[in-house]
Amino acid sequence: MKVLLVEDEIDIAVPINRFFSSLGWKCSVAKNLNTAIELLEEETFDICILDLFLGREKGSELIPILNDKGIPVIVLTVVDDVSEKVKCLKMGADDYLVKPFSFEELLARIEAVLRRLKGTNKKNSLVYENLEIDLLSMIVSIDGEMLPLPKKQVMILIKLIENIGRITPYEKLLSYAWSSYEDATIESLRTHVHYLRKALRKYGFDIISYVGIGYALKHEKTTKFS
Ligand code: CA
Repeated sequence: MKVLLVEDEIDIAVPINRFFSSLGWKCSVAKNLNTAIELLEEETFDICILDLFLGREKGSELIPILNDKGIPVIVLTVVDDVSEKVKCLKMGADDYLVKPFSFEELLARIEAVLRRLKGTNKKNSLVYENLEIDLLSMIVSIDGEMLPLPKKQVMILIKLIENIGRITPYEKLLSYAWSSYEDATIESLRTHVHYLRKALRKYGFDIISYVGIGYALKHEKTTKFS
């Protein structure tokens, strides 16, 4: 996911940027309209999070440009001003959030906007027991609660779930979760699996290690395992 965050307040931009990075997303921050327009000319984005008050500038001026480029936009506003919200939605904003908001809410809005744009209300997700991975945002949740995991671990988990009931060989995990220019080693895979196993254990999941072969995911409820 590539996000364009247009926000002049560093105290707000930095934590949001950090949050997106923790999800493995790439986030570019623009403090003003000019920088935002420059970035939009250079790169493509999956979504734009747009603050309406950029010092003396109006964030809403960016909405038509984003619409032209087909980039969905969620506007941020401080005041819960109904007329301002309606104006932005009429201008082509896909949703809005009133500050202060939680990261969970921001994420839920982003997911909802992206789902709506894909023309489906059905989640594009992978489910195993009470664990769900949204394949669009790469968000892992257990019983509906978000579990923050580094992107590599999410990718390892995707392969393990796809192969549920079987052993997933090291090579398969490495070729899927690591890009070719990175140092894909059994050692680094082992480290990621270690942390992933730790994160999942309290929810009743375990990652079984088959020395020299690979890994398999199982849940304590799953009695049969071959
Ligand atoms: Ca602002």
